[in-house]
Amino acid sequence: MTQSSPRDARQQKLSALRADALRRYAGLRIPAGFNGRWTRRQWAHASLFASIIALLGALVPGFDQALALPTHAPRASMALTLPQIGPKKVVAGPTRKGDSWQVVNVRAGETASEIFKQLDIPQGDLARLLKYPGVNMEMRRLRPGAEIAFDLPPGGPLRGFRYTRIGEKVELDMTGEKIVETAVPQQVDVRTVVLSGTVGDSLFESARKVGLTTQNLKELTDDIFKYSVDFDSDLDNNDRFSVVVDQTWKDGKLVDTGPVLAATITTDGKLHSGFLFERDGKPGYYTADGRSLERAFIRMPIPYARLTSGFGGRRHPVLGRFRMHKGVDYAAGTGTPIMAAGDARVKSVGWHGGYGKAVELDHGQGKTTFYAHMSRFAKIRPGQRITQGTVIGYVGSTGLSTGPHLHYEFRVNGAHRNPLSMMLPPPAPLSGTLLAQFKGETKRALGKIREVENIVFQGEEIRVADAASEKGKTKADKRG
Ligand SMILES: [Zn+2]
Repeated sequence: MTQSSPRDARQQKLSALRADALRRYAGLRIPAGFNGRWTRRQWAHASLFASIIALLGALVPGFDQALALPTHAPRASMALTLPQIGPKKVVAGPTRKGDSWQVVNVRAGETASEIFKQLDIPQGDLARLLKYPGVNMEMRRLRPGAEIAFDLPPGGPLRGFRYTRIGEKVELDMTGEKIVETAVPQQVDVRTVVLSGTVGDSLFESARKVGLTTQNLKELTDDIFKYSVDFDSDLDNNDRFSVVVDQTWKDGKLVDTGPVLAATITTDGKLHSGFLFERDGKPGYYTADGRSLERAFIRMPIPYARLTSGFGGRRHPVLGRFRMHKGVDYAAGTGTPIMAAGDARVKSVGWHGGYGKAVELDHGQGKTTFYAHMSRFAKIRPGQRITQGTVIGYVGSTGLSTGPHLHYEFRVNGAHRNPLSMMLPPPAPLSGTLLAQFKGETKRALGKIREVENIVFQGEEIRVADAASEKGKTKADKRG
């Protein structure tokens, strides 16, 4: 009561620490690209992303209904307002003893004793705290970013302490004669967010920087944009991508990112998009107009052909020996065009021993097809991307062959499969009420993506075409 000046000093330190914690809290919300030090530029981005993440909670509620994701924490539905730059609050936790909790995020190189010293924790309280089983040990191995909290009223004794012990948050009540321990429930929060960026030097790097996982990137390149975007040559540094995902946050830390729910890439002024949607209990990616992005292989790689030899054991027509026939044969006249069975990257074009002139195509996801005995090749080269139905060569009888025919093989992860069993009918596009539901969700998702892009890329020319939405009316311009 009489020592007013030390108390003021402590107050000042506390408010400085509180401000510090606020800043660091903002930093924690940016999962990627953080190397421990923040430049002014990073700060600008951090607060922008922090506000975007805060802004976009519960953005696309339709998607989680469609997907029935396992984690279903309650979502706050909030009206979309203009973003506020900067953090909003410090995690304060239960405040049953008044608002005197001080939250400290440990910085790199900072020790617990330094923190205790800064906070002016009374020596006796500190000794008592460190005697509590496990506390001393945990304090010795504090990691940067770790959070500890003190219930420390100005001028008063230490009333409580909160720390993480083996991944579990623990609170110690020090008001009584004996220290009483309670577990602090963790705050789990699932938010649907839009992550936007420009491709830059590498889509991979940029995607990681905005917080996408390797799995998300695979979904983008292998499932959603595989047929519409050539990731090796189409993309420009300034091209934009936006991805909607569900993020799970535990106590202010990002712990999990779900699958891509919706994505757009704008390249060459053209908008490409894909959306996750569940049909008959099976989730899959669809184009904006409701066509499945999972394309089937065409039934026959050549027109007007006759199946002359099936898949399985048989006597080889030239060698005479009994051996496995690893594909199927179609008889057709020399020069009949041979088509790619599915969208693919050309793996090889050339002479292939007994198979003569042959082409191998890579369809991704471990699937390859092989076409042999060609009379000549079409104008294709290894590495080239071709779409389903592209003519890759012409029927012939090169190699060990008794007459003009196509020998066709289908492999999954290197193992031969019967091509006839691999050809499924193409999935029908969405229609009726399902299509209406899908359109409602995609429209909402695209609207949100557009709003976020308007914020993230503010000041830049808006190049997003409205190709994927029917009317493409942007609502109020959200740029401030
Ligand atoms: Zn054959």
